[in-house]
Amino acid sequence: MEQIHANKAIFNQKCRLCPRLAVFLDDVREEHPDYHALPVAPFGEADPQLLIVGLAPGMHGANATGRPFTGDHAGILLYETLYEFGFSNQSTALSIDDGLILHNCRITNAVKCLPPKNKPVGAEINTCNQYLKAEIASLRKNAVILTLGLVAHQAVVKALGLRIKDHKFVHGQVHYTESGYCILNSYHCSRYNTQTRRLTTNMFKDVFRKAKQLMNQ
Ligand code: URA
Repeated sequence: MEQIHANKAIFNQKCRLCPRLAVFLDDVREEHPDYHALPVAPFGEADPQLLIVGLAPGMHGANATGRPFTGDHAGILLYETLYEFGFSNQSTALSIDDGLILHNCRITNAVKCLPPKNKPVGAEINTCNQYLKAEIASLRKNAVILTLGLVAHQAVVKALGLRIKDHKFVHGQVHYTESGYCILNSYHCSRYNTQTRRLTTNMFKDVFRKAKQLMNQ
């Protein structure tokens, strides 16, 4: 099963639509010639029941390895939990050639390029939304979209043409949409959130338990 997606509507590795991000990646590539330092493609199955949406690649993680949450601290809890719930063949994600395969699941980011200080600006989130929109449109209509954090949630709401004021981000909340998708919110599994225990391992497991229930409805 193909695990990296190259459909141009969904992902374009040559995209330079956000000038600040394109120039930043040029600089990062110069400083770290061994890093991927390009837009990071979604990873996982082509027709999954579960789409997980993160924020953006981390400097020394996804931006270095070229695969979402791979080598990122945030990926530790994510990939352990995916494995525990049967969504993958191994519990770690260290490099693009580590043999990891996702089952019935795909991981993408609201913003495909590494942003300075991990903070994309509104215009970048909006510009990148065309790729997320195409990616969501390619999903089966009863798919579950798990959003990690507020930015990912709002990007998904926008991609679905819904109003943010009708769909507020609340950890653990399910938003049913007319188009058939349901959006499930979780705090982001970032180092900050796990170390401050805003998001604990058990809270994250509860989110995946809920995702499984929604998938079986
Ligand atoms: N790595 C990613 O690919 N996305 C995130 O949101 C965080 C780390």
